[in-house]
Amino acid sequence: MDILSHTFSGLAVGATLMPFSKQGLKSKLAILLLSGFAGFLPDVDAISYWSGFDSTFGEWFNLDSSGVKVYHDKRWFSHHGLFHSLLMAFILCGVIFLVSNLFRHKQIKQLNWKQESILYISVLFAFNTHLLEDMITPEFVWGGVAYLFPSEDYWGGTGEIWWWNNYDLFLIIFLTFTINIFALIICRVVRLKWKWFGVGVFCVGVFFFFFQLKTRPIFFQYKGFSGHHAIWETNERLSKEVQKEILGGDVYEFMEKLDNEIPFWF
Ligand SMILES: [Zn+2]
Repeated sequence: MDILSHTFSGLAVGATLMPFSKQGLKSKLAILLLSGFAGFLPDVDAISYWSGFDSTFGEWFNLDSSGVKVYHDKRWFSHHGLFHSLLMAFILCGVIFLVSNLFRHKQIKQLNWKQESILYISVLFAFNTHLLEDMITPEFVWGGVAYLFPSEDYWGGTGEIWWWNNYDLFLIIFLTFTINIFALIICRVVRLKWKWFGVGVFCVGVFFFFFQLKTRPIFFQYKGFSGHHAIWETNERLSKEVQKEILGGDVYEFMEKLDNEIPFWF
């Protein structure tokens, strides 16, 4: 799935869980932003596909293959490798824990685990949401994500959605995030504590996400490099036709325009 949907998924998780924290606004914002970051983080492994990879990382680490090959391989730093695993989610939590304790105010002597845990639950949830969203993309060369790394098994690769052009899913994710943020602001202004409203909105969002997923008229599955370009072009075209059918002309045109203006795959 695309990086924008992943990041907003993380933000939606954060916006849902942040009202459960009884800490100050700063801590709540940390939950929101770090969850967004957790939703984004797994795709840093796509850096091997970057045109400057060979002359930088490739040379620094004396790699024996090109970045493009690394990207499609099953090495630990290849796309869908370690960075797309549960282990990496825990590593991220560990790093957040270490960094936040370095900057912890000296007056706060003891950790409030019950309160702190909401941040880590949100980060884990956001990170796992990214992995789940990638499991429903095609098998191609990976066959899913290395969820239980260092196990060599890859999870998912079900081909229920195309790599990108999932505008309907993006809109569901984006609306879930936006509604929850507005609800939080309104609840703060009128001093209302209604944290379960956000959970309800999130569950409705999840329902619609899976509904759209399961009612896709086309299956986008393909495996390996053989005939890859032709399949890729067909799926790319079909994925847009599906979106036009689902969203209708006006919304589709708006989303496509947005897509064309964004300098990465969306
Ligand atoms: Zn990913």
